[in-house]
Amino acid sequence: MPPRKKTRQVSVGNVKLGGDAPVVIQSMTSGYTWEVDKCIDEVQKLARAGADVVRVAVPEKKDTEALRHVLAASPVPIVADVHFHFQRALEAIEAGVHKIRLNPGNITDRKQVLKVIAACKERGIPIRVGVNEGGIIERKDKELRAREKSALTGSYTAELMRIMHEKLDEYIRIFDEADYHDIVISCKSIDPRIVIDAYTSISQRHDYPLHLGVTHAGPPETGRIRSIAALGTLLANGIGDTVRISYAADPVYEVEDAKELLCCLGLRSRTEPELIACPACGRIQVDLYELVTNVRRKIASEIKLPIKVAVMGCVVNGPGECEGSDVAIFAGNGKGIIYVQGDKKQTVPEDRMLDALLEECHAFADRVERGEAALSNASVEIAPPDPLARPDGSVPLNVVGR
Ligand code: SF4
Repeated sequence: MPPRKKTRQVSVGNVKLGGDAPVVIQSMTSGYTWEVDKCIDEVQKLARAGADVVRVAVPEKKDTEALRHVLAASPVPIVADVHFHFQRALEAIEAGVHKIRLNPGNITDRKQVLKVIAACKERGIPIRVGVNEGGIIERKDKELRAREKSALTGSYTAELMRIMHEKLDEYIRIFDEADYHDIVISCKSIDPRIVIDAYTSISQRHDYPLHLGVTHAGPPETGRIRSIAALGTLLANGIGDTVRISYAADPVYEVEDAKELLCCLGLRSRTEPELIACPACGRIQVDLYELVTNVRRKIASEIKLPIKVAVMGCVVNGPGECEGSDVAIFAGNGKGIIYVQGDKKQTVPEDRMLDALLEECHAFADRVERGEAALSNASVEIAPPDPLARPDGSVPLNVVGR
């Protein structure tokens, strides 16, 4: 993977964003901020799931009034999402919020934007300047809207990109002219191809940190593919300083998937167990899917170390494919063979596979905690067991010399 592009760094409370800081995971509460207790619960739940920063919407004065309580109880920095009312931004800044998300396209009076910039400057608070595909075409001025829509001829994607870039550059100029550079940029679309092209182009033209996201991605079942296609491509190309995956579902899923994406790309170290599992094929002789589901659920809730666990359907390709795993099980012919860092530990009947594997995972994790074993021992080699061997290791006479 190419190295990450070096951007300017801003501070969101105690979280560094951009520069050489790790990619920051963000999410947003789905309830009302003025429902203080529920909002605090949601913020804390997202922080526990792994969000580094949480955004809350503040459309009304009662929301910014609630902000002080949310800020006092939040374990992570809070971003206030402001649309339309610049006064909400000023109130949120006054309340001590750590970052403002502003869409200057929705606050058309430049003097108002400058007031927000001045307040942020005074307190050292960064601002995300974001354009979204949905808000890019003019809505209030009918003539301008007609002109902009009529320009969307030929390649819709190319025209839309052009307008998004123009608007974004126009917004950024407001901040540059105010000599305020603590900004983070976003340029979201529901189309992953537009997201990839838009951010790639912005990254070539600016050194402001980038907030990546696919807007209105849908439920996790489909939004996951849409989001990972775009964000994964950008991150793999070294672009992006913070991510928000957005689903029409509990935002905890956003955080979990963002974490997994960053871990898969080596942009974040794992803190929880990693599961490798084969997809199953015609060689399978046990109910692998049920086993994988149960192993995943159990290790996620019971093991607190990033051990690598492999569940393989057979001994044919399994050993090669789970090379480097700490605890591995190979199923076959109604039984499972368990290895711990390359050493064969147990051969158990199918109905004991789950429990025996968990026993070995716990025992291994305990040894790691006592300093008797090391995690991520990539040199662990697992030799394939002979699929035709008897339980005692001997090979039937009629297959000797095959
Ligand atoms: S590990 Fe075995 S059962 Fe699983 S997909 Fe590979 S060959 Fe098939």
